[in-house]
Amino acid sequence: MMIAVENIELYRYEIHSLLKAFYPQETVKVFVGEPDVRKYPGPAFLRVEFEPDRIEMTVFPEEAAEMPFTRTVRAPEGAAFDQKSTACKTAAKHLLYEMLCDYTKTSLPWGELIGIRPTKIAMARLREGDSVEEAARYMETEHLVSPEKAALAAQIAERERKILSGIHYENGFSLYVGIPFCPTTCLYCSFTSYPLASWKPRVGEYLDALEREMEASAPMFEGRILDTLYIGGGTPTTLEPSESERLIGMIRQYFDTGALQEFTVEAGRPDSITAEKLAVLRECGVSRISVNPQTMRDRTLKLIGRQHTAAQTEEAFRLARDSGFDNINMDIILGLPGETPEDVRYTMEKIRELGPDDLTVHSLAVKRASGLLKWIEKNGFSSISNTDECMEIAARGAAEMGMSPYYLYRQKNMSGNFENVGYAREGRAGIYNILIMEEKQSILALGAGSISKGVFPGGRIERRDNAKEVAVYIDHIDEMIERKKKLFGR
Ligand code: SF4
Repeated sequence: MMIAVENIELYRYEIHSLLKAFYPQETVKVFVGEPDVRKYPGPAFLRVEFEPDRIEMTVFPEEAAEMPFTRTVRAPEGAAFDQKSTACKTAAKHLLYEMLCDYTKTSLPWGELIGIRPTKIAMARLREGDSVEEAARYMETEHLVSPEKAALAAQIAERERKILSGIHYENGFSLYVGIPFCPTTCLYCSFTSYPLASWKPRVGEYLDALEREMEASAPMFEGRILDTLYIGGGTPTTLEPSESERLIGMIRQYFDTGALQEFTVEAGRPDSITAEKLAVLRECGVSRISVNPQTMRDRTLKLIGRQHTAAQTEEAFRLARDSGFDNINMDIILGLPGETPEDVRYTMEKIRELGPDDLTVHSLAVKRASGLLKWIEKNGFSSISNTDECMEIAARGAAEMGMSPYYLYRQKNMSGNFENVGYAREGRAGIYNILIMEEKQSILALGAGSISKGVFPGGRIERRDNAKEVAVYIDHIDEMIERKKKLFGR
């Protein structure tokens, strides 16, 4: 089904995003005037009127027997709405949110917030001197966030502040290196990922390109302290031990890793992990790895194209412990096709038996670039759902393992409109994860599909991406380097 909004010149993005949050399974089209009949033949679902003294919104129910549903917000006495002002945008968002709550008889856990980094708001309030409670209250009143989520965001922001206290902001940076190969492609994947089988003969060429990028980029950060290093992907452990050794050797050759506070390798897929690979990572100084089950139900693993079993996850985790890793992260996803709260409970029990040091709980997000969208078209939306109950089972399970929430982010089109939360035992939080979310430090990102981020004095943030396709990245490595020079200015 499609729903259309007419008469929208302003705040198109915000209005579209809020409607998608209420109607995730519908296609939402926003028109400046009346709907273009070639794109949408029926009457509009929502009409918006901006007048100097008021904003008025009307929902036209699909059932002709139902009456239109109108809500209005008026400008303060004696004043007019400046349509370009933040106050006007906020009033429009509040009006639409509250109207949709009334109309659908539901509310959203994150209120009218549509951004992916809600903890940044709480963090800004803490920096301005608010207490944790005041920051939470601000999110409730200004952004209509539920009391539970507002408290969660404020507590996480406070924890992040402590964890980041030893980070060098202007004086430091973090390094990301992407390895875009995976054993197979997961159904929900929207990352830069290519099946290893077809790329294996060219992995050496990819590492050659990475080396050129490193050699050219390292001088841009000369004199600055490298705080964290993250090798992600894709699945970095698809590399053979000798290739991992070469990669980490290159990093150490071009960058001073003497002050590293964290060195993560996202091992990720259990079917790519071997004792020999883990031994190399340990010898090369990796301090934190991920072994990601996503679920411990074999039938779901098969359905989502992971092509490994829960038993392989257990085996990979034990290998990692036996290799000496004392900081192992696991990722799970809630809302996977066909999974119920009972499946989440089962997965959490199995994870508890393993005892990881941190756990990232994702809500399934339906990305346009993923195979999941086609799967939904065929099987329907109703068989994927994340619920309060699933979130609660995961949060309780993490607490029972002695973990506290330490970072949080949201994505578009998340099942249940929830969030992704990272939990960790004391001293085991992934610092890089927080840095990505809080955007207080520059990140130099190398490899296909990676996105570098410059954080400049005054808070200005700029990004430059690398080509996603591996072949394009390799063939145009000089252009990737030029993009970095433009961003980091050396
Ligand atoms: S392991 Fe991650 S990057 Fe690889 S296919 Fe699955 S979701 Fe994508």
